[in-house]
Amino acid sequence: MDIRIEENVLPKNFPDESNLGFGKYFTDHMFIADYDREQGWHDARIVPFGNLSLHPASTVFHYGAEIFEGLKAYRTSDGSVQMFRPIENIRRMNNSAERLRLPQIPEDVALEWLLTFVKHEKDWTPKSKGTSLYLRPFLFGSDPFLGVHSINQSKFVIIASPVGNYYKEGLNPVKIMLETEDVRAVRGGTGFAKCGGNYAAANRAGEKAEQIGFSQVLWLDGVERKYIEEVGAMNVMFKINGEIITPALTGSILPGVTRKSCIELLKDMGYKVTERLLSADELFQAAESGALEEAWGCGTAAVISPIGLLRFHDKDYVIGGNKIGELSQKLYDTLTDIQWGRREDTHGWIVKL
Ligand SMILES: *Cc1c(COP(=O)(O)O)cnc(C)c1O
Repeated sequence: MDIRIEENVLPKNFPDESNLGFGKYFTDHMFIADYDREQGWHDARIVPFGNLSLHPASTVFHYGAEIFEGLKAYRTSDGSVQMFRPIENIRRMNNSAERLRLPQIPEDVALEWLLTFVKHEKDWTPKSKGTSLYLRPFLFGSDPFLGVHSINQSKFVIIASPVGNYYKEGLNPVKIMLETEDVRAVRGGTGFAKCGGNYAAANRAGEKAEQIGFSQVLWLDGVERKYIEEVGAMNVMFKINGEIITPALTGSILPGVTRKSCIELLKDMGYKVTERLLSADELFQAAESGALEEAWGCGTAAVISPIGLLRFHDKDYVIGGNKIGELSQKLYDTLTDIQWGRREDTHGWIVKL
């Protein structure tokens, strides 16, 4: 499918690389494609970055039909730009789309659109250590009427944002609290789909945690309120008596690309990795007895986020002396070395642009 390109005649200045933050600056262009039932996907285009114009009755505003992805392009030491497992994001996007009955995009077409857009914007990939070009593809229903009905019109958009190093002074342990009131998702719901609605459902608990100085919440399953699911917007892993345990993908957990990559790397390193149900009781007993050696969240934005303190009801458990665990650090180093091209990619994960 042809991609029409309309160059931005008023390019912006590149922002200060030492103060990029996350998602504050955007490149000069965005990618858009339209869908309707008669024509399928059409009018793929790269156009100057700017506001979208949508009918106020658009499905997305009223019934939340929206899914998204998040991945990065990395600048290597020789100046080239590369991506990490983009096909995984495309497959997950189609799975999310299927759940919300948004139109899917054939894998090869979606990959070509993404890579063409990133190549077009690649000079925006910052060069300083730990920085990257964050890519946010998103897809939403845009039918211009209020009846609740299946989706006939959609838009797929990709925007790109140069982002800073998540950890300015190296890895930093975070404080996490168990959330016992709100749930983020239930089995049979949309937990495995990367959709805005899951974030809307998470807002209240996240805000509550933030107000008392915690960075994220640890979610319990929505049915039995017993099993650990994930932490904020990251998957979670625990090192208990030398074994790595991570919640199994039961349908209400987001299947992270970082999670999947960590599992593969940990197995390469010779660790036993078990995906299973892990109850909060078992976890806090392990914390109490000292069997819990390390805990970390994993996701594209922060890569690895060591957990230094867990709050369970009114009890606080310090993990690993609130220091960065040896394995958390090793995983972080291994993954980031592959992503930024400092280590050989033996898994075929890297796509060079
Ligand atoms: C995106 C996301 C993750 C992490 O997925 P990655 O592919 O590793 O970035 C985990 N949990 C939730 C809820 C997410 O939205």
